[in-house]
Parts: sequence; structure tokens; C-alpha cells
Amino acid sequence: MPMYEYRCQQCGAKYEQLRRMSEADTNLECPLCGSRNVRREVSACAIGGSSSSSKSGGGCAPRGGFS
Ligand SMILES: [Zn+2]
Repeated sequence: MPMYEYRCQQCGAKYEQLRRMSEADTNLECPLCGSRNVRREVSACAIGGSSSSSKSGGGCAPRGGFS
């Protein structure tokens, strides 16, 4: 299961979750404020690994064109 990063648009919290790919964007909810206004950030597609260096080095993951 890949790790995804999410950013709450409400309080700005950033958090990570392991999710199935098929559920990457479902039932998003901020663990801090409970807002559902959460967006998935493009994160390292490699599982585990990179301690986030400021830029998420994209590449293998299709940039989610969600809007
Ligand atoms: Zn929040």
C-alpha cells in the first residue's frame, strides 16, 4: 500500500496515510479539525523512503489532475 500525503485546506495540517490506491481520494478527513476539505499532495510514489525534502520529486506517479 502506498503512502499518501494530505493537506487540510481548512487548518493547513499535513499528514500521511497508508491507503489503497483505489481509496486514495475517498473519505478524506483531517485528523486535526475533522474537515473534509483535504487535498492529496503529490508524494513520493516510492513506498516509505524519502523523508520529505521540500520538493516532492515526481516522476512515476501520474500527477493527479483533480480539481
Ligand atoms: Zn484540518
